[in-house]
Amino acid sequence: MSPSRDYRIITILCAQFTIMKQLSLTTTIDIFETAKEMSAKEQELIKAAEEACKKAYAPYSEFNVGAAVLLENGELITGSNQENAAYPSGLCAERTAIFYANAQYPETPVVSIAIIAMNKHGIIKNPVAPCGACRQVLLETELRFKKAYDIILVGQSSIQKVKSSKDLLPLSFVGEGLLKSGE
Ligand SMILES: [Zn+2]
Repeated sequence: MSPSRDYRIITILCAQFTIMKQLSLTTTIDIFETAKEMSAKEQELIKAAEEACKKAYAPYSEFNVGAAVLLENGELITGSNQENAAYPSGLCAERTAIFYANAQYPETPVVSIAIIAMNKHGIIKNPVAPCGACRQVLLETELRFKKAYDIILVGQSSIQKVKSSKDLLPLSFVGEGLLKSGE
């Protein structure tokens, strides 16, 4: 069978199917020009993330990231990215902070997290969003406590805020099917 004939057959088969349904996903992001437009608590959280950023260990990428997590009990936990010569052994700032918070206060929900990144020139111009792996962890923390929380992404030119990690990770992988109780 010639390649051109293969193509013709596939075209004919595809033409027999129609799309049954379509799903549109919408993400709402609040955008602020500066932290001054935000609440005092949020400004404090952003400041803490910036301070955490300066403590990053990122000698390889020189891309420092800081995260600050506010818990419902008022505790403020910070974390920064920790790199390693064996690259996959490092950890992002968001997971460093969230895992520490969850390890120290396993019963306490998160209220908000602020994330900021810097290179040698200073704070990155546009807000830097969490990587896919961190989004999964942020989501599981939300599901674990059954409570959505604010995610604040800080850039030099603007600040973005979403009200749930589901906004950053639609159609996510969730562990319901993994739980023995969910059989
Ligand atoms: Zn990450």
